[in-house]
Amino acid sequence: AEEQLRRLDKVEAVAQLASSIAHEIRNPLAAIKMAVQGLQMDLPERRHQDVLAMILSELDRIDNIAEQFMHLAKRRESQFQVADIRPMCELTVRLMSITARKSGVRVSLSVRGDIPPVRCDVAQLQQVLINLLKNAIEAMPDGGDVEVELLEESGRVVLRVIDHGIGIPEDELPRLGEPFHTTKPHGTGLGLSISHKIIHDHGGTLHLTSRLGEGTVAEVRLPAAPAVRTD
Ligand code: ADP
Ligand code: MG
Repeated sequence: AEEQLRRLDKVEAVAQLASSIAHEIRNPLAAIKMAVQGLQMDLPERRHQDVLAMILSELDRIDNIAEQFMHLAKRRESQFQVADIRPMCELTVRLMSITARKSGVRVSLSVRGDIPPVRCDVAQLQQVLINLLKNAIEAMPDGGDVEVELLEESGRVVLRVIDHGIGIPEDELPRLGEPFHTTKPHGTGLGLSISHKIIHDHGGTLHLTSRLGEGTVAEVRLPAAPAVRTD
């Protein structure tokens, strides 16, 4: 548990650092962009225009990356409230289905029984579900089904994201959730570590079980809010 805490502190520190570097990078980037736009006016020849257009598009790419990192640490103050997370799950599954369809993945939600309310920041939990769904979809390059399950089990609200994708090799499992650990060419390796941090802040747990070549189950368990007596 101590090791886990150290890891979470590291996530926070890394996010802060990445965010402030990104912020510093964006100012000179904006200046370069303006200078290049000036050159576009001064150098009308085709061979110059092509190079300048390429420079601008690469500058935009850097700017996009920097912007993503800036949002990392800019997570606003938590807003905890007692809430039913079912509508958030329904909405998120619907939204992510649109992205998933492009890679031939179908996402479905099954809600089993009544779901007790949870003391939570709904926006943060949505971020976790998005992160888990993205990983599930990315694990299925040839398409298929991703199932999201929402249920209650002995005083806990359980949210599972089940994919039938590439799976995770056993020796990779201990490294999951380590900031910047990624096996993807364009991955950030931040989705799981941020999700771990959020779920930890909610007094819950996040576990991944996986079989190589068969798929992965990501399971979030959150304590149900104590029932309010109305009698
Ligand atoms: P990223 O998705 O940017 O790589 P994450 O923190 O979300 O970063 O995930 C870290 C790594 O964990 C991934 O690169 C991948 O190797 C592994 N992983 C996470 N979820 C899954 C999954 N559902 N199936 C297979 N591998 C996964
Ligand atoms: Mg990810």
